[in-house]
Amino acid sequence: MHSWDLSTGVDGPGTRFVAFLSGCPLACLYCHNPDTWRMRAGTRTSADAVIAEAAKYVRFISVSGGGATVSGGEPSCSPSSPASCCTG
Ligand code: SF4
Repeated sequence: MHSWDLSTGVDGPGTRFVAFLSGCPLACLYCHNPDTWRMRAGTRTSADAVIAEAAKYVRFISVSGGGATVSGGEPSCSPSSPASCCTG
């Protein structure tokens, strides 16, 4: 994972826990997150660790009608499926 942030009004409804994954080969001209393009720019992190971090803010996120967003980089380029954070 490259980084995470709490975001309101940009990455989905309510306040979001936004996980920015590392790596994107597309290099879009107007990309907002070019610092995430390099696959090795992040830190190897387990889905459980990301969920544990997000859980610290769940009450705040819930009250705002928010949720979680997986962003990037390009999440589909991640070596493990971002969906593993979203199930179970
Ligand atoms: S992160 Fe998204 S906007 Fe940026 S270069 Fe990749 S696909 Fe394009």
